[in-house]
Amino acid sequence: MIDAQPPIIVARLVEESPEAVCIIDALGTVRYLNPAMQALAGYPLGELVGRPLYGLLADPAACGAKDYILQMVNGVRQDPLLGKMRECALRHRDGAELPVELRVRELGASGGVGYLGAFVTDLRARHALEARNAALLEQIEQLAMSDPLTGLPNRRAFEAQAAHVAARARRSGAPVAVAIADIDHFKEVNDRYGHVVGDAVLAAVAKAVIGASRTTDVVARVGGEEFGLMLPDTDAERARFVAERIRQRVSALAISTPNGDRIQVTVSIGLAPLVQEGFEVALTRADAALYLAKRGGRNRVEQA
Ligand code: GH3
Ligand code: MG
Ligand code: MG
Repeated sequence: MIDAQPPIIVARLVEESPEAVCIIDALGTVRYLNPAMQALAGYPLGELVGRPLYGLLADPAACGAKDYILQMVNGVRQDPLLGKMRECALRHRDGAELPVELRVRELGASGGVGYLGAFVTDLRARHALEARNAALLEQIEQLAMSDPLTGLPNRRAFEAQAAHVAARARRSGAPVAVAIADIDHFKEVNDRYGHVVGDAVLAAVAKAVIGASRTTDVVARVGGEEFGLMLPDTDAERARFVAERIRQRVSALAISTPNGDRIQVTVSIGLAPLVQEGFEVALTRADAALYLAKRGGRNRVEQA
């Protein structure tokens, strides 16, 4: 029981507490700040005592300061937030705003005056950590969804974006085309020039594919030397036109190697319309059309 302890002992504990503590009276006048609170707010001993609390708050309105506290003390307003945590900003003596968490407690009355106490926690370190974690999470998500070599979305991202496009198309009834573009005889490029040059060719092809498609198209690297495309608002005729343009742009590339050679590559493209059966089925059909394009001599577009 706290009442069984000498008041001075209890008071010492509050005084020594590493947690910032502030006591105000029913009129919102600061009655006590422990040293941790003085350090947090930048006020020397005693300077704030006897002054209104509102000088300490960066935005009294946001804190619901005066009336809120007074109403609470007078018992007029019962708010489930009271006694719970709330975040607000403290005005440091030097003018800076400090984000803090307040945990307010009603301390009852003494000598006809009501008192309120608050534990005040500096949130700067927590906010900095949260910001860093959010940035890291964004970075991780970015890494998990994109291919580092070409900067394109990877297969996982392609599937996620394709699901969006497909859902939108189902609602609007607009046609969507699915395409797979695969570099022809890419193994020979690697065998002849090495993997590093192969990588440069892949990056150049990715750029050409992006350049030849529209901003609304989804373009992704879905396999080693394979690119997946989802073309919204595109019927079969228009899809062939876009695929032809991609095929031509790639075949027009001349990629320089360190020894002065200029590499030319081509792509074969398989096309399929997105139909009721959904994305996976369309992708399988596009793959079958790609196979036909390969069988038919490569550097060509085939439609399922
Ligand atoms: P096809 O015309 O039938 O598609 O022949 P291909 O040689 O392109 O097909 P194949 O599947 O035999 O070979 C694909 C090659 O792509 C083999 C693999 O080493 C290469 N490859 C896959 N990913 C990468 C990569 O990230 N970098 C490089 N340099 N090569 C890659
Ligand atoms: Mg392939
Ligand atoms: Mg290939």
